[in-house]
Amino acid sequence: MRAAIALARSTPEGDVPVGAIIYGPDGEVLGRGVNRREADGDPLAHAEILAIRQALTHRVDGWRLTDCTLVVTLEPCTMCAGALVGARIGKIIFGAYEPKTGAVGSVFDVVRDPQVLHRIEVQGGVLKRECQQLLRDFFGTLRQDADLDSVRGIR
Ligand SMILES: [Zn+2]
Repeated sequence: MRAAIALARSTPEGDVPVGAIIYGPDGEVLGRGVNRREADGDPLAHAEILAIRQALTHRVDGWRLTDCTLVVTLEPCTMCAGALVGARIGKIIFGAYEPKTGAVGSVFDVVRDPQVLHRIEVQGGVLKRECQQLLRDFFGTLRQDADLDSVRGIR
């Protein structure tokens, strides 16, 4: 998770900082991604999706990531949770809970829904304080910018 937090710090300015790393069965890094939605103007460019795509370039045996573990600083959204089920990821470890859009238990539980046949092991809240702090720092900066803008507006 510390590696994912360090990665999240390289998220482009203006994007919510999220870092995702996919590890192979021997602990080797197969894929990395940061949130690039704003930078790329692409609603699909979430950290997890980019990490899945990169991990697949290392695979010679198809599209399944069954023996892999995804580590991500923020609870995945519905799109990413769905993609992780689709990729048959073996395990998801996430940091901060996302009470508004989280789809690995907070709002929805896409990966452990009884209708979903693929079983994913989940561990949430790992280093959650550090992961929450990433978001606090980001949104705190935004708020300060907004305050500056309102001051400028008055002048
Ligand atoms: Zn997502």
